[in-house]
Amino acid sequence: MYVDLHVHLRGTISRATAQKLARRNGIGALDDLLAAPDYGWTNFKSFLHAYDRVASVVTTAADIEEVAYDYLRTAAADGTGYLEFMLSTPHENRSGPAYADQIAAIDAAADRALEETGIECRIIATAVRHLGQTAALEAARIAIATRSSRLVGFGLTGDEKPYELALFQEAFAIARAEGLKTTAHAGEHLGADTIIEAIEVLGLDRVGHGVSAASSPNVMRQLAAMGTPLEVCISSNLQLGVFADLASHPVGLLAGAGCVITLGTDDPAFFGTSLSHEYALARKSSPDLLTPSRISMSAVEAAFCDEKTKSGLRARLGMMR
Ligand SMILES: [Zn+2]
Repeated sequence: MYVDLHVHLRGTISRATAQKLARRNGIGALDDLLAAPDYGWTNFKSFLHAYDRVASVVTTAADIEEVAYDYLRTAAADGTGYLEFMLSTPHENRSGPAYADQIAAIDAAADRALEETGIECRIIATAVRHLGQTAALEAARIAIATRSSRLVGFGLTGDEKPYELALFQEAFAIARAEGLKTTAHAGEHLGADTIIEAIEVLGLDRVGHGVSAASSPNVMRQLAAMGTPLEVCISSNLQLGVFADLASHPVGLLAGAGCVITLGTDDPAFFGTSLSHEYALARKSSPDLLTPSRISMSAVEAAFCDEKTKSGLRARLGMMR
């Protein structure tokens, strides 16, 4: 059983679903994107552009439900037993249904998928770093006001560069005070020290990516000592050019240094990947340390769900306690 701790809902929209929703919502001029495998992007700029255009096909809560259900079915068929969807809170440039309605739509999809396949799903509400401090505070308030037992986490995505981490401390404090667990993208494009800074300033339970830690033995030592899990997304890193190839990807090095490794698909529809493929890449990178059962055991402990759900997942992994 696989566990995905880093996947953006809008990064899971398959071409078939995108096509269907575009037609239903009368959104034209997507034919070039839909004709190309993985939406045909070639660099980070065209990736972001393709991402926004594909996301634009989702306009109603019913669309969100369809996207979530479609991906949960796909993931379950691939062997995933648990995943956490990241969903950004509404922001100025994006119109659409109220956040509570979006979460209710995911809940409905998750109920159906759970009954049909046994896959468990939770939700992480995310703020967008490059939208700044006020937007992040608003995101935290929206997250804590949204009533769903599946909404268990608060996160920070977006461009690591323009805004310093201290600006987001209050938003994270608000989320933590209401019992939400926390994660933030850090150490994907910026250096190793920013990972420790993010953990300390934001009080993180996990780190999104965190792979730049490999450039600093000192940071790897600190991460291993703290036991803060990393959500490593190998295909995402390779396709966005963070590392040139699997041989130079540091997931094995990080595991060897004692860092807690979990895996994620990030934006699977854009990277042409699946979680089983990510597990296979990790194993190839470090056959002894990164076995599927070891990765899943770490991921279950690092998951943001309640203890009862974790017990069920442990049982599914054959590790009753
Ligand atoms: Zn991500």
